[in-house]
Amino acid sequence: MASMKSVFAAYSNRLNALQTSTNTFAQGVAWVEGQLYPLSEARIPLIDQGFLHADLTYDVPSVWDGRFFRLDDHLARLDASCKKIRMSLPRPREEIKAILVDMVVRSGIRDAFVEIIITRGFQGVRSSKSEDLLNNNLYMFIQPYLWVMEPEVQIGGGSAIIARTVRRIPPGSFDPTVKNLQWGDFTRAMFEARDRDAMHPFLTDGDANLTEGSGFNIVLVKDGIIYTPDRGVLQGVTRKSVIDVARANNIEVHVEVVPVQLAYQCDELFMCTTAGGIMPITTLDGKPINGGKIGPITKKIWDGYWAMHYDPAYSFEINYKSLQSRL
Ligand SMILES: *Cc1c(COP(=O)(O)O)cnc(C)c1O
Repeated sequence: MASMKSVFAAYSNRLNALQTSTNTFAQGVAWVEGQLYPLSEARIPLIDQGFLHADLTYDVPSVWDGRFFRLDDHLARLDASCKKIRMSLPRPREEIKAILVDMVVRSGIRDAFVEIIITRGFQGVRSSKSEDLLNNNLYMFIQPYLWVMEPEVQIGGGSAIIARTVRRIPPGSFDPTVKNLQWGDFTRAMFEARDRDAMHPFLTDGDANLTEGSGFNIVLVKDGIIYTPDRGVLQGVTRKSVIDVARANNIEVHVEVVPVQLAYQCDELFMCTTAGGIMPITTLDGKPINGGKIGPITKKIWDGYWAMHYDPAYSFEINYKSLQSRL
C-alpha cells in the first residue's frame, strides 16, 4: 500500500521533529480555569461532578499536518451533547476555537489529539444545589496524535473479537449519542479482548446486533455495500467522513441495524475514530477476513479519508508563526 506508507512516513518525520523540541508544551498542554499547564502537570479539582459522578460530556477533534480537521463538526456535536444532558458550553464556540488554535500554536504540535471536556460543575456530594444551577466547567488539552491502532498495525490490519462477557450500555441507560466517559462496559470488553489474544473488542446490544467498540465505530462491507449500525452508538465524525468518501466514490452506504451475523459473513471490516482514522480489521474471533488482507473498499476509504485532511471544505491551516507576531 504505497499511499498508506507515504502518509505514515511523512507523519513519522514530523513526529521526529517534535521529539527534539525544547518547547515545554511539546508533549502536551492543558487549559484549566483559564491557565495553561504542561499536560503532565495539569490537575482537576476533586469536587468537580465530572470526576465524582462522571457527569460530563466531551469531544475529540484532531490536528493533522498543521491543519484542524472538522473542528466545527466536533464543536456542533459537543454543543448538542451538552444540551441533551442539560448543560451548556461554558464559553462561546468561537472563543473555544480561538483558545484551541492558540494552544496548538504554543505547543508547536503539528499532529494533535485534542480533548474538550465539559463537566456539570462543582458541588459537594450532599449539597442541595439543583444540578441545573451549577456552573458547567470547561477543561481542554492537546497532546501529540494518539493511535487507537498504530500505523505499523494498520498496514497489515488488526484483530478484533465480538465480546461475549459484556454488552454495550443500553441507550435507555445512557444516551450513546452523547460522547461520554462511562467506560465500564468498554473496559471489561478490552480485558476480554486481551484474554482472547485480540487487539480490540466489538460490543453487541445484547440482542445479537453490533454497536461499537472502545472509542470507535464499526463499519463492514458486504457485496460492495457499506454497513454501519444506526443505533446504540456515538454518531462518529469519522463515520461521517467514511460516508462522505463512500458517496464521492459511488459506494452505497446503509446506516441501519447490523446483526452480529453480518460481521462473520462480511468481505471487509474496519473500525473508525478520530484517534487513528480508518483501521482495518483482518482477523475476527481468530478467523481471517478477506483472506487476512485489507480489502479494496477499505483501502479506498482509507485513502479518501486522509486526502480529506487537506481539503479546505473540511479543514483549515494553523498559522504557527502567529505567536511570534503577538509576543
Ligand atoms: C469518540 C467515539 C467514537 C468515534 O467518534 P469520532 O467522532 O469518529 O472520533 C465512537 N464511539 C465512541 C464510544 C466514542 O467515544
